[in-house]
Formats: sequence, C-alpha cells, structure tokens
Amino acid sequence: MQDSVSRREFLGAASGVAAGATLGVPLTRNPGFPAIRIPQAAKNVAVASGNGLRGVELAGRLLIEGTDTLDAAIEGVKIQELDPNDQSVGYGGLPNEHGVVQLDSSCMHGPSRRAGAVGALEGIKTPSVVAKYVLLYTDHIMLVGEGAKQFALSYGFKEEDLLTDASRQRWLRWRANRGATDDWINVGDDERMVARETGTININTVNSRGDISSVTTTSGLSWKIPGRVGDSPIIGAGQYTDNDIGAAGSTGRGEANIKVCGAFLTVENMRRGMSPTDAALETLRRVVATTEARLLDDQGRPTFGLTFYAVNKNGDFGAATLWSGGQFAAFDGATAARHDTAFLYERR
Ligand code: ASP
Repeated sequence: MQDSVSRREFLGAASGVAAGATLGVPLTRNPGFPAIRIPQAAKNVAVASGNGLRGVELAGRLLIEGTDTLDAAIEGVKIQELDPNDQSVGYGGLPNEHGVVQLDSSCMHGPSRRAGAVGALEGIKTPSVVAKYVLLYTDHIMLVGEGAKQFALSYGFKEEDLLTDASRQRWLRWRANRGATDDWINVGDDERMVARETGTININTVNSRGDISSVTTTSGLSWKIPGRVGDSPIIGAGQYTDNDIGAAGSTGRGEANIKVCGAFLTVENMRRGMSPTDAALETLRRVVATTEARLLDDQGRPTFGLTFYAVNKNGDFGAATLWSGGQFAAFDGATAARHDTAFLYERR
C-alpha cells in the first residue's frame, strides 16, 4: 500500500529510535512529567467502543501480522464506516438537520508523533482514511468541510451519496415530527420519535514492540446543526496517543468531552500511574465537575452518555462510562471479546 503508515512512517520512527528514544522503556522527555516507566507490550492489543468487535478482531490479526498500529486501527474502523447498517458512522450515518451526512474523524500515530483530522466532511465514506492522508501528506492537522472534500477528491477518493434509504427514512420521520406548529405534517402520532441518536467508533492499538496509535470516526450527533463538529476530530478529545504512555478515545456527548480534552486527560492520568480503567474513570469525574446545571439530574449526575476507552504501552486496556450497562470491545493479544464497561453511576 503506497499510503501505508508502516512504509512511510516507520522508517522515520525507527530513525528516531536509533537517535535515542528507547522503545520499550519510555523516557519522559520533559522533566516536568513524573517518570512513570510503563514497560513495552509483549502482546498486540486493540481496544474499542462496543460496536468495534469486528474491528478489534481484524486490527488484532493485522497487528500480529506486523501491520503498523495506525493502519491496523483504521482497517478496523473502516468495517463500521463502510457498513450501511451502522447508522452512526460513515456510509449510512444519520444526517444533520438538513438531511446531509457530515462526518468527523481524527487519528494519531505514536511512533511518528503525527496527527490528522477531518471535520464536517461530506460525500466520502471513509473519513478515517482521509484523516490519515492529512497526517501523511500535509503540514496541517485538520481540514474541514469543502476543503476536506476537495483534498480527498484530489487523492482519488470517490464522492458518493452517503444517505442510505434507511437513514433517509429516519431523517424524514424526524423532520415531520419535530414540531406541532411547523409546516411539516406529523406522521404516526403514537410512534416514538427517534431523537438525537449518536454513534462513533474509536479503536486504540498497541503492538508487541510497544508502538501505539488511535483513531475515532463518526457521523456525529444525528439531526445536528449543519457545520456542527463534535469531539471525534479534535486531537486530545476524540482520541489521543502518546507513544511513551498509551492511547485513549471516546464516544458519547462530544460537547462534554471537548471541554475536558478527555482523551488527552486520560492519557495524562495513565502517565501519573493510573490503570486505563482508573484513568478513564478519573476523566469522567472531571466531566461531571464541568457539566452545566441544565444537563444534570436532581442528584447532580449528567443526563447524557460518555465513554472513554484506553490502552497503555504495556497492553493493559479498559473503559469507563458515566452510566452502567455498557460494553466495550477488545482484542487482548489472543481473542476478541466484549467486556463490561466500568461506570460512575448505576442505571436504575
Ligand atoms: N462523540 C460523537 C460526537 O459528539 C457522537 C457519539 O459518539 O455518539 O459527535
């Protein structure tokens, strides 16, 4: 693959290793950071949101075959991006208020310490790959809207209508029913209105050499205001990788995550010595502390959902969410499985 990170970026990363950085025994380069030493993973691990079971299975297999960590993560999320039945990501994703699918994605490649992102991208099924092209071929981090689309088209990505019949149906029903006094006649009065469903996939990978990457991709909040960009394409919110420490990413209410730079904070919590699960729980406590009153219930708990997924350089992985009942997906070096997600509050 011409655009493979493994081809182009590992060479650069490898020369960095020769120049002093020691893979496996990370050196903290800034003396201000505590010198936590996380040993290198002896195994290939991928951790993802609950919809990523097929993704971590594929990513894990690719890691074992020696595929670069970012390439493996992107191959994993592409399964959801290309699946018309997943209405939360890529092709088939639920549209914005105007019926247009706008996609967000970002990625980070630990060994080369590079990042790429696209926001509000229309017409391209695989925003994660476009984000990788931003990482590979530009001196920038993020492209948005029409510019991101033109950038993708210049590399031969195909422009396609991303709205499947099923997603269009749901958008039309939402538009018809959103208000009693607008010009749209309501349909199916007894039908439960589908409102503001969200979805995303995040995959974080570490290979047996201790190299780490992360990617997050989404169609964002359904029925969002056109141009709204969530956390997924924001480096440090939707995902973050530090090749010395680990990677983390998120799904759920992006607005709550952006305010705490949640993926970055989770990696920083791991830098302070926390396990991936504890690091994610600690980030959620910050989210609660920064939530405005209108989004809290009478006991001060957020009324939305937000989940963080994390892996450290050792291959330990975990996830935490606000409300009980969630599951995440992981490849632990041998098998892919779903696991219960740690939580702050018991859902009754
Ligand atoms: N985090 C995504 C966003 O805010 C949505 C989601 O994960 O459900 O765009």
